[in-house]
Amino acid sequence: MSPRWEPVIGLEVHCQLLTRTKLFCPCPTTFGAPPNTHVCPTCLGLPGALPVLNGEAVAMAVTAALALGCTIRAKSTFSRKNYFYPDLPKGYQITQFDEPFSEGGHVDLEGASGAADGSEGSWKRARIHHIHMEEDAGKNSHTRGSASVVDLNRAGVPLIEIVGEPDLSSPHEASEYLRVLREILVFVGVNDGNLEEGSFRCDANVSIRPIGESKLGTRVELKNINSFKFVEKAIASEIERQKEVLDAGGHLTQETRGWDEANGTTSSLRSKEAAQDYRFFPEPDLLPVILDDAFVARKRADLRELPRAKRERWVTELGLTPYAAQVLTQHPEVASFFEAAANGSTDPAHAVRVANFVQSEVLRDVTTYGQVAQFPVVARQVSEIVALVATGKVSGKQSKELYLLLKARGSEVSTASVVAELGMAQVTDVNVIESACAKAFAAHPRQAEQLRAGKEALFGFFVGQVMKATKGSAHPQLVNDTLKRLLAAT
Ligand code: ADP
Ligand code: MG
Ligand code: ZN
Repeated sequence: MSPRWEPVIGLEVHCQLLTRTKLFCPCPTTFGAPPNTHVCPTCLGLPGALPVLNGEAVAMAVTAALALGCTIRAKSTFSRKNYFYPDLPKGYQITQFDEPFSEGGHVDLEGASGAADGSEGSWKRARIHHIHMEEDAGKNSHTRGSASVVDLNRAGVPLIEIVGEPDLSSPHEASEYLRVLREILVFVGVNDGNLEEGSFRCDANVSIRPIGESKLGTRVELKNINSFKFVEKAIASEIERQKEVLDAGGHLTQETRGWDEANGTTSSLRSKEAAQDYRFFPEPDLLPVILDDAFVARKRADLRELPRAKRERWVTELGLTPYAAQVLTQHPEVASFFEAAANGSTDPAHAVRVANFVQSEVLRDVTTYGQVAQFPVVARQVSEIVALVATGKVSGKQSKELYLLLKARGSEVSTASVVAELGMAQVTDVNVIESACAKAFAAHPRQAEQLRAGKEALFGFFVGQVMKATKGSAHPQLVNDTLKRLLAAT
């Protein structure tokens, strides 16, 4: 009988840092410029040009590492990784090799926490081996008929490579690891999380071993998985292939395979024997990176609250449902918007009301792109709308109209002025409501009689009559109270 297999997966993630300029030269990092326009002697690898380390990139790399619970090494160095390829004009990549700037750390897979039903699922900690800094290569395109072309705009753009331990046990855990990692990096402002433009990319190392075995099996490295949708598929397909080989009595070789989206299979790119010897050696043109305690402490103090911590705090301190907390942490700007609006009142119920309003009205009008989000109104306006409803000045129905109007008028407009202008204020004048209730009873004497005789279902009918007579502007609770009072008095 063939053994039952257990998958073992370790991910290597390349993440582009959101600096304005490249890692070792002042060229811009913006995506989408005409080919070979963001280049200079340094990133073109021209003789005599010297690299100068970008301090902003180091700061962002440290922020990322701290957010992931890594230890920052006081001293790290750059090395040359030598290989020949048209997208690498220097003939080597500058990367950190034996002395990376950070070690350790972890990604906590959240399992079912934040599920719509509010249940807290189990979670699992996947360890990070280390994170290092390196420069990106350019981009080759083989799409121009028989010619291949190179664009070096991306050459020299700053990356961090996050090397995970082989702690993941299923395709789903791998995609969950990527989701949480991406969320954290986007949240702390160092990455735009954009898989399509290649600013967040992953190689997956996959092996299988008999359940109960502690030794790792032969691993295959999967390249070119450039979509979240396909991570699970690619890994699952590779696990199946490995099982088939081993179950048939074959053996696996360590190799690099590419994911073919069209066929839904992986195919060999190169074997371990054909793997290159990169001849790493210390980069002579760059000094070691020294990160003193004060710098690291400052970066730690500057770190934004992480999405998971926010969710937990919002649930316990503000009373949000786990689901609402999940929805409102989908983007750092959405989280900031919610917090700004939630802080707009001292009423303890304000935050939950804001959360509901943002989810039901505002979010559908929000567009996000990378780190940037665009809102139809400002947080102050949402806070004001919610407070007006809570104090009974406008009705729930009116609050939606108010929102639409503020959206059309722009962020400068004060909520109160629009309310006044539209004569929208909710009727809370007891005399007005009492007179409307009396009129409703008078207009429907038969129903009033039946209600008094105990036909409770007719109560809603009279609430509806009063709301209709006041064009929906009467305070619903006051209408209820007043109707009851009039009934009791007769
Ligand atoms: P290399 O130095 O060749 O890149 P590493 O030991 O640094 O190899 O591992 C690179 C990645 O491969 C890491 O993310 C690690 O978790 C993963 N990995 C290593 N061995 C295995 C294995 N047997 N199965 C699955 N993943 C593995
Ligand atoms: Mg590697
Ligand atoms: Zn340059």
